[in-house]
Amino acid sequence: MKAMTLQKWILSISLFFLSLAFGLFISSQTLASSMEERYMKKRQHMIQLIEQDVHQTSQYLDTEALDTKVLKAIATVPRHKFVTPDTIEQAYHNNPLPIGYGQTISQPYIVAIMTDLLKLTANDTVLEIGTGSGYQAAVLSELVHRVYSIEIIAPLGEQAELRFRELGYTNITTKIGDGYYGWQEQAPFDAIIVTAAASHIPHALIEQLKPGGKMIIPVGGNFTTQQLLLITKQPDGQLQTQQILPVRFVPLTGEH
Ligand code: SAM
Repeated sequence: MKAMTLQKWILSISLFFLSLAFGLFISSQTLASSMEERYMKKRQHMIQLIEQDVHQTSQYLDTEALDTKVLKAIATVPRHKFVTPDTIEQAYHNNPLPIGYGQTISQPYIVAIMTDLLKLTANDTVLEIGTGSGYQAAVLSELVHRVYSIEIIAPLGEQAELRFRELGYTNITTKIGDGYYGWQEQAPFDAIIVTAAASHIPHALIEQLKPGGKMIIPVGGNFTTQQLLLITKQPDGQLQTQQILPVRFVPLTGEH
């Protein structure tokens, strides 16, 4: 009789903890989905800010609106997962943010226009110089077949690589190194995006661009206003350079 009572007692305690765990699981799921909804709304608002900036700079961009595919990619990538914990509340402001080591995650408007100017298609292979947080690479990965990204600061490159794995971005390959020299083993590329300001256009990057390919790169002095250049390699190898607009990027560093 005593044994039966003990069994019942154990059973009711177990049921109690089971329902408690189930309740906690359900409420954590509800919390996670309401947080996700909140971030989705923030992303939609950020898209509106980008669209306003595009409208205001349309005379430089030669367009009033960006490709809807680019805006969709930006509306998909969880920017709050690419910023540091102390700036998470600002993740969807239309500003650059510090990511440590004196570097920044670029302003969403800049990410959007640089991506748009490359006129990417789904089969493209893109090289990015300056992985940083990994945000720009993640946006590119939504639009193209494969992204190669090089970062010179090892801890930043390693953190970005971990993020890609955690968030399931399987078409991004990274390496630590000086992106000035490009990535010869994976060349040629349909497009190249340089997210740090170079004093001149690196020769290796031109060499690794396919005929017909495009490169977007800020060129100018350290910590001064630079020019965002769009370079198109013509089928005969000639370069066509368009000056897009003045920008401010951290410098392309390295021994070159
Ligand atoms: N694309 C990044 C993102 O989405 O977060 C932002 C890039 S941040 C403005 C510039 C990055 O370029 C920094 O992380 C910096 O360390 C990196 N960088 C600077 N010089 C480089 C070089 N020679 N090779 C590769 N990366 C470089």
